[in-house]
Amino acid sequence: MKLKGIIFDIRRFSTNDGPGIRTTVFFKGCPLNCGWCHNPEGRSREIQKATRINRIGESEFRIEEEIGKEMSANEVMKEVLSDAIVYEESRGGVTFSGGEPLEQHEFLIELLKISKENNLHTALDTTGFTSPEILENVIELTDLFLYDIKLMNDEEHIKHTGVTNKGILENLEHILQKKKDVIIRFPVVPEVTDSGKNIQQIKEFIAKHNGSLKEIHLLPFHNIADHKYIKLNAVNGMKDIVSLKEKDLLPLKEDFESAGIKVKISG
Ligand code: SF4
Repeated sequence: MKLKGIIFDIRRFSTNDGPGIRTTVFFKGCPLNCGWCHNPEGRSREIQKATRINRIGESEFRIEEEIGKEMSANEVMKEVLSDAIVYEESRGGVTFSGGEPLEQHEFLIELLKISKENNLHTALDTTGFTSPEILENVIELTDLFLYDIKLMNDEEHIKHTGVTNKGILENLEHILQKKKDVIIRFPVVPEVTDSGKNIQQIKEFIAKHNGSLKEIHLLPFHNIADHKYIKLNAVNGMKDIVSLKEKDLLPLKEDFESAGIKVKISG
């Protein structure tokens, strides 16, 4: 039987998930439970029922929908490859994101293999929360890792994401030893990840790796996902926290730049 995966979105013409113009494939399922999650529809591995509420004037319309779709690797790659010419001209490619794509690692590997057979640049947007064995199987097929660093202190990491960061940091070290390209993604969440101590520890981690970590993307906390929580009938524990604007992150950008790393504020 051909392998199938559960995908909740395929976004074409993406410019925030790696170099050039890309298609980003979003996998369902994530082992973390971050309070600030912008993609709550990516957390559960299962296809979910959701209710979209549309209002026109005084009237309210409820539309039942499913989040997630079972797809074969060929079905996913047919959509991805339909923009092959765009990737070639923009030096883009395909990015696998989620959720956590490594939760469906066999399906991911199949997609990575087909991507490489078609000479696509591959990026993996990952929490890094996986076993060394699974990671080993994707390293050679991945050109660029978009790797989350949230909290350096393990107790804090467990408190805010539900899992330890030990394996995450060890896996990152391993990827760097293999000399793969890595961009760190750092979600800047007020009163959670933005403490001076956490930022200092991230800077020290970057400095320890002697130039192999060249770029960091700062992801400002925002609350635009609230409608997704409502749709899923889920609790958004941070709905009262004010979204950050790009200008709020400029001092932090300068701080990281002074440590000799390229910084981008991402959407
Ligand atoms: S790792 Fe990403 S997808 Fe998973 S819960 Fe955290 S923010 Fe959401």
